Amino acid sequence: MVRIILFLIAVAALAWGVIWVTDNPGDVSLNWGGWQIETSAGVLAGGVVMLTIVAALVYRFWLFLTRAPGQIGSAYRERRSRKGYKALTKGMVAVAAGDAEESRRQVQRADGLLGEPPLTLLLKAQSAQLNGDEKAAETFFTTMLEEPEMEFLGLRGLLNQAIKRGDDVAALELARRAQALKPKSEWLAETLFDLEARAGTWVAAEDALKHMGKLTGPSKGETKHAQAIVALGQSLEAEKAGDPTKSMKLAEKAVSLDTSLTAAAKRLAKIYIHRGHTKKAQGTVEKAWGLSPHPDLVELYYTACKVDNPFDKVKAMEALTSHKPGHFEGHIALAEAALEAELWGQARTHLGAVMEAGHETRKVFSLMAALEEQEHGDANQARHWLARAAVADADSAWVCADCGYVQADWSAHCSKCNGFDTMHWTVPQGLHMLSHQHETPLLLTSKT
Ligand SMILES: [Zn+2]
Repeated sequence: MVRIILFLIAVAALAWGVIWVTDNPGDVSLNWGGWQIETSAGVLAGGVVMLTIVAALVYRFWLFLTRAPGQIGSAYRERRSRKGYKALTKGMVAVAAGDAEESRRQVQRADGLLGEPPLTLLLKAQSAQLNGDEKAAETFFTTMLEEPEMEFLGLRGLLNQAIKRGDDVAALELARRAQALKPKSEWLAETLFDLEARAGTWVAAEDALKHMGKLTGPSKGETKHAQAIVALGQSLEAEKAGDPTKSMKLAEKAVSLDTSLTAAAKRLAKIYIHRGHTKKAQGTVEKAWGLSPHPDLVELYYTACKVDNPFDKVKAMEALTSHKPGHFEGHIALAEAALEAELWGQARTHLGAVMEAGHETRKVFSLMAALEEQEHGDANQARHWLARAAVADADSAWVCADCGYVQADWSAHCSKCNGFDTMHWTVPQGLHMLSHQHETPLLLTSKT
């Protein structure tokens, strides 16, 4: 708009100038270097305008000649980088699709076209991994650490590699470094907690768990149950550091956070017994039994109650099992105590109750065999029950919910897959043909 107005003003000025010159004709005489020009003022003005236009055109032509190579060059560069980005994209798609050959081809294209190493580093590393060359991938990830904007990606790559090859020490160091760069990353917070816990650095694990809770909300990760496991770990750490009082306090904390955590109750009861606080030990075992009855608590209870006479044991077991009446673990514990005290009728009643409830396991049938043998000396009946035991369901054990691995004792991490808090007291699947439940470590071939 402004240009049109300026153009109209220029045209008007020119027209006015022409009219003015025509109205005021005059003579011009030029005398220069032996040349003499005689003309009118109008012609001279016209000549000057023509000369200006020619000069402007020549100038524009000169500009075109000087700028053209640059413009052509930048168009060429633009086309190359467009192709480069296209190759980069295709390469990433190939990585996502798991096409190793294609990813390698596109990496080479992108690298040649873009000529910007940082940009293609990640793709190079991922492509190398896809082609099974972890060493090359590690080199690319390490190079990425030198670029501030690529450092986190490089650390993530190296961290995943360390976890994959089971190098927990390197993984922990990388995870700590990565978290300093990106403290808000959720997966990193979870990984760091896992690594700290696995390393047995439970104080750092508690911080990591708190941080994780802040990022993911209190429901995920930072539950009372997880806090209890961390406190239990800290209790072991304190014991190793030679601080038994702190160790006891932390075990108490673990039990108060999650009383159903059998390992914590066992540990606290043992500490109390060791210190002579037998009443406290009894209370701890009773509370734990009331929430989750576990055979490991039985012997601990006898020790806490200081009983070794079979009849006193029966009484003690009656007291303990009253905290969770009717539970099959209680019936089994009572049957075992009754057998030892030769109270055959009681033993038979409790075993009958267990079988009636559908818990026809190896241990129950074995106890029936022992009962027939000891009460009546009936070898035939005993053999009958043992034959049933051989093909019966396995008894509950510590089974990893993730990989199905079976361990004799609970631990914060699965001994096979390293999963945190995956060990549950449950019936393992596919163990019918094994004669001993606690032959550990048992590796299950299939997960059901
Ligand atoms: Zn596992």
